Amino acid sequence: MSFADLGLSEDLLKAVEEAGYTEPTPIQAQAIPPILMMKDIIGIAQTGTGKTASFVLPMIDVMASGRRRALMPRSLILEPTRELAAQVAENFEKYGKNHDLKMALLIGGVQMGDQVKALNEGVDVLIATPGRLMDLFERGKILLNGCELLVIDEADRMLDMGFIPDIEFICDKLPENRQTMLFSATMPPPIEKLAKKFMSNPKRIET
Ligand code: AMP
Repeated sequence: MSFADLGLSEDLLKAVEEAGYTEPTPIQAQAIPPILMMKDIIGIAQTGTGKTASFVLPMIDVMASGRRRALMPRSLILEPTRELAAQVAENFEKYGKNHDLKMALLIGGVQMGDQVKALNEGVDVLIATPGRLMDLFERGKILLNGCELLVIDEADRMLDMGFIPDIEFICDKLPENRQTMLFSATMPPPIEKLAKKFMSNPKRIET
């Protein structure tokens, strides 16, 4: 299996080559084609397996092929910690450097002012921790009804950190007609329940 077999655009194949990757990891080989076909997926994978690129690469292609919405974010990636959110943002910058996608990193521990300014200027991709996202939403600074792509990353860690009610609140604010991707190292019952409630006929990928 090579990256060229997965259906990614030439632009992204170039970005992958520049990153020095010669072949897709198992999670990438299995997750990229269904994500490009706009299906919901559950990826059971640990960190370190190339999981981040397995959703960031196809999301860039899906967004590039879609219609741009003035000022409204089209994608939301939820991460349990600031560090993970920052890493995903770096990945987006690396793989998406030939695409004109605007990104906002919405994490706690930093002033809200710059985040609000970025939101007001218009963003395509939100990469957020649940706490800060909820805070901005409740202050009326974010519109989530244009987010047609949602990633819930490290879902089992979200559960351990008590974020499931926040995630449910956020999912309820997103359009029903969206694509949802959930990644988790394990699938405890509350995560199965979350997936059942907020995903539509997800393809399960175990590596
Ligand atoms: P992740 O699981 O997303 O945290 O990725 C772990 C590490 O694997 C990161 O440093 C990536 O840059 C690297 N990586 C991702 N995909 C590949 C690949 N196909 N080949 C080699 N390294 C990769």
